[in-house]
Amino acid sequence: MTMPKTEKKGSSPEKKRSLPVLYDCSKCPAYCCTYDWILVTRRDIERLAKRFSLSYEATEKKYTKYIKAYGKNVLRHRKDHIFKSACQFLDPTERRCTIYEHRPGVCREYPTTRRCGYFEFLKWERDQQDDPTFIPFQG
Ligand code: SF4
Ligand code: SF4
Repeated sequence: MTMPKTEKKGSSPEKKRSLPVLYDCSKCPAYCCTYDWILVTRRDIERLAKRFSLSYEATEKKYTKYIKAYGKNVLRHRKDHIFKSACQFLDPTERRCTIYEHRPGVCREYPTTRRCGYFEFLKWERDQQDDPTFIPFQG
């Protein structure tokens, strides 16, 4: 299924900052970094170009691809041992972003609310399995 990593909707940044989030990315295998369409804007490509000391065009070609049906550029993926594929910037072992300071805007905003649906599902399944490392939907 093709899924975009959606842009921020709803709550204001001020409101979001004033309340603690109810998820813990350090305990998650980075499901949100596996979305098929992780949007990159012109500004995001410029930031990546600076990070890799490449031209805008070279960065766009190397790290993004244009999705005709979406009408936008998204980050390229690579195979992943937990999920089918994941963003190429995800460290496959540590499950951390390797370009954190230069990540796209959509990654900065996600999950846009205090709660992360995947984390809640993960937490529930781990409680059910009595296994704090359990990861559903592997493969
Ligand atoms: S899926 Fe949710 S908990 Fe997991 S890394 Fe993304 S935002 Fe964090
Ligand atoms: S750029 Fe970083 S935060 Fe964004 S999807 Fe890729 S690994 Fe995840």
